[in-house]
Amino acid sequence: MADKPEPSFRESVDLMFNRAVALMDLPPGLEEKIRVCNATYTVRFGVRLRGHIQTFTGYRSVHSEHMEPVKGGIRFASSVHQDEVEALAALMTYKCALVEAPFGGSKGGLRIDPRQYDEHELELITRRFAYELAKRDLIHPSQNVPAPDMGTGEREMAWIADQYARMNTTDINARACVTGKPLNAGGIAGRVEATGRGVQYALQEFFRHPEDIAKAGMDGSLDGKRVIVQGLGNVGYHAAKFLSEEDGSVITGIIERDGALFNPKGLDVEAVHNWIVKHGGVTGFPDASHMAEGAAVLEEECDILIPAALEAVINLSNAARIKAPLIIEAANGPITAGADDVLREKGTVIIPDMYANAGGVTVSYFEWVKNLSHIRFGRMQRRQEESRHQLVIDELERLDRHMGDAWSMTPEFKGKYLRGAGELELVRSGLDDTMRIAYQSMREVWHERDDVDDLRTAAYLVSIGKVAASYRAKGL
Ligand code: GLU
Repeated sequence: MADKPEPSFRESVDLMFNRAVALMDLPPGLEEKIRVCNATYTVRFGVRLRGHIQTFTGYRSVHSEHMEPVKGGIRFASSVHQDEVEALAALMTYKCALVEAPFGGSKGGLRIDPRQYDEHELELITRRFAYELAKRDLIHPSQNVPAPDMGTGEREMAWIADQYARMNTTDINARACVTGKPLNAGGIAGRVEATGRGVQYALQEFFRHPEDIAKAGMDGSLDGKRVIVQGLGNVGYHAAKFLSEEDGSVITGIIERDGALFNPKGLDVEAVHNWIVKHGGVTGFPDASHMAEGAAVLEEECDILIPAALEAVINLSNAARIKAPLIIEAANGPITAGADDVLREKGTVIIPDMYANAGGVTVSYFEWVKNLSHIRFGRMQRRQEESRHQLVIDELERLDRHMGDAWSMTPEFKGKYLRGAGELELVRSGLDDTMRIAYQSMREVWHERDDVDDLRTAAYLVSIGKVAASYRAKGL
């Protein structure tokens, strides 16, 4: 097995794409048009730091412009390279199509280790990178809308938005040039938690289908399921937190850069998160055993494995030893094409990245719409909704008085029923709906077609079908 060569990330995405298109009836040429990355811009720029000029290399790849703007995060990591950015841009195309976010696919990366710089230096670097991209319309509300990814977050998005606004002083839609901004700079409630929340909603939807649960050799609900999470960054942290606090799942393992924590009785996600913030890693955390060789914990017995950090963590070297019957890809590309073959052979059910982590871009879509409409969701209807509910309650209470103690409403019910939805509730509801519908579109193909035996192929079939339809509609 190990002598089989491991394809690169971009080759992996292409291999998976090819496996799916082989089952489709696309006109020759269109297949190629969809698969290839339209353009990748490479920029090298210098920033004067600590008394001398340092040169940085950045990329912005546009995979498909069948819909515009194109969308996708910007990653800050020392491992960033063109092949990776192109693979990630392709995944954005398929992801957006699958969850019906009306965007083409794009991705950006800056080769930098952000931990080596202080906040002021990072601001200078980010603004300069944003300037280089904005000047070529690679950041633009109607052309190309970046978002956070590994190594970036609200802070960097605020700098990018401000940089764009400085360069486009009369653009009334300037704030829509990037998503994932802080709330006070045009962001939306629930964007930070969105990808992890989406992972939770994806699993909840999976567990609504007994047939699907049975395919993974399990039964029951998320309650009590043993979960191992790899990477407690923004996505892994929120997914693990919500699953343990709201669904009763037990987080038995957490894998981080400096090793893994394991506790069959369950780890307190919030406590581990606070420990990492304070100590920079998981080492020394009480109430768990610590394994220096973190990756080994991927191979531990569990019900659900959530790779939520880097690509290719499950590869030809460990795939055969992975015991989890269900893997949900919270990260982009955590399973290589070779490992995917091995796992499929074993009957492991994989909820694929382009679906599993689409919560981020889904809420980015809501943020972009909010920015273009210049109004917070719920602002017009919230109080009106509340007063209509109040009417019903008043009437029921009037009847109640006539009927004596025969029945009465609990204060909890009244409280919940009376509360009109604010932005956060609306965002979560829109995200939940998106995750349910997208799952159902995949599972339909998975169950109905004899030649499709995995969710990833099903996801590709659905999304390539949508991209192809939009190219056809354009007359291409
Ligand atoms: N970087 C995230 C992703 O890979 C979010 C992209 C976005 O919100 O545009 O899906």
